[in-house]
Amino acid sequence: MSNPARTFARPPFVSHLTCLRCGRHYAPEEIEYACACRTNLGSDIGTLDVIYDYAALRRQIDPAQFVADPDQSIGRFWPLLPIADRAHLPPLPVGNTPLLHAARLGASIGLPNLFIKDDGRNPSASFKDRASAIAVTRAVEEGRAVAATASTGNAAAALAGQAAAAGLATVIFVPKTAPPAKIAQLLVYGSRVLAVDGSYDDAFDLCMAACAEFGWYNRNTGYNPYMTEGKKTVSFEIALQLGEGARGEGRGAVMRAPDAVFVSVGDGCIIGGVHKGFHDLVTLGWIDRMPRIYGVQSTLSPALANAWRDGAEIPEPVHATTRADSISVDMPRDPVKALRAVRASAGAFVLVEDAAILQAILPLARLGAVFAEPAGATAYAGLLQAVCDGLVQPEETIVVINTGNGLKDIAATMQVTGGVQVIAPTLAAVKTALAA
Ligand SMILES: *Cc1c(COP(=O)(O)O)cnc(C)c1O
Ligand SMILES: [Zn+2]
Repeated sequence: MSNPARTFARPPFVSHLTCLRCGRHYAPEEIEYACACRTNLGSDIGTLDVIYDYAALRRQIDPAQFVADPDQSIGRFWPLLPIADRAHLPPLPVGNTPLLHAARLGASIGLPNLFIKDDGRNPSASFKDRASAIAVTRAVEEGRAVAATASTGNAAAALAGQAAAAGLATVIFVPKTAPPAKIAQLLVYGSRVLAVDGSYDDAFDLCMAACAEFGWYNRNTGYNPYMTEGKKTVSFEIALQLGEGARGEGRGAVMRAPDAVFVSVGDGCIIGGVHKGFHDLVTLGWIDRMPRIYGVQSTLSPALANAWRDGAEIPEPVHATTRADSISVDMPRDPVKALRAVRASAGAFVLVEDAAILQAILPLARLGAVFAEPAGATAYAGLLQAVCDGLVQPEETIVVINTGNGLKDIAATMQVTGGVQVIAPTLAAVKTALAA
């Protein structure tokens, strides 16, 4: 799959890439996407893991520099990113999202140390900006004119926004059922949008074939190994925000790990990224332990939860129908990293019903003041289930990641809130309404 014409500037601290299937090592300039052992364009196998020169990083980088950096976007983590120069990041800053201490929400479920990492506050209103910023940077550093992706909506919106900032053209494959707000984001940023009359999985396979045919830079999740590297920045931020550096106390550890992290899972790239981020920090000795990582799926899109339960390496495809469109996936594209995240961190997969997902939108907003799209609220629904199952302890520091803003899918919100009451423009009508 490598493009002979591509130029390559080596990221300063990347040592090599390793295939998670056959163990083969590649220099970064040798390989663009997946390992040669990958047999089928649409399958998951041959996923590469990006490995850094951790000894050099430990000698040359002090995590306190991240706190002091005048640019608080993900660019401050440049030594741990697969880009040659942070100046090549698109001028639309990503990351530095708030970690909110959700005191009232936590009190309602007996967890006083509950935090919400609100990634709905990224520039395109979802977590996916973290990966798309890296995709666009790499496309620019490789001299590409066009980047493409398949997406349930958010990865595409993020790619479209980052590409608009960088002046890169994009071609987007989405299922035609993607929520209108997400499609609107693509159109307004000027992407060439191809709404596929089929599922996300159909869009994925089509994008793979089109990138091979036309030579576009391919952002596809689970295939492009660098998306995990963008996504891992959420863990760097969480560790900094829980650390002493964030409080300006100047003593103790700059970074601190939470006890548990909850995140919703579709393809499995985000959860793999969350694990990779904490893994980098443990390897560097900047945090003292790996948090337990909990992946939350809908019972109507349970491929990875099933594989975890069965001890399988590769999931069986399902027919996904969840209302949480961002995590509606038949065949997860990043299963190896996702399953490793949960197994290696002594976490678990948690399944929740769609009704619980939609209901979780309300306490998140009313007690936590965070407006989440259904896939974002799924992580909190999973925490509620985990409390019932005794998976978390009252004093633990727990982080729930909201992966997408509620404005992405208004129909879901209107459904769960019941909508508005219309009244006549009279005080009498107000009195009648209040009495009802
Ligand atoms: C993409 C997405 C997810 C799931 O991420 P995967 O990498 O597919 O597991 C969850 N929530 C939102 C809002 C998303 O956009
Ligand atoms: Zn391989």
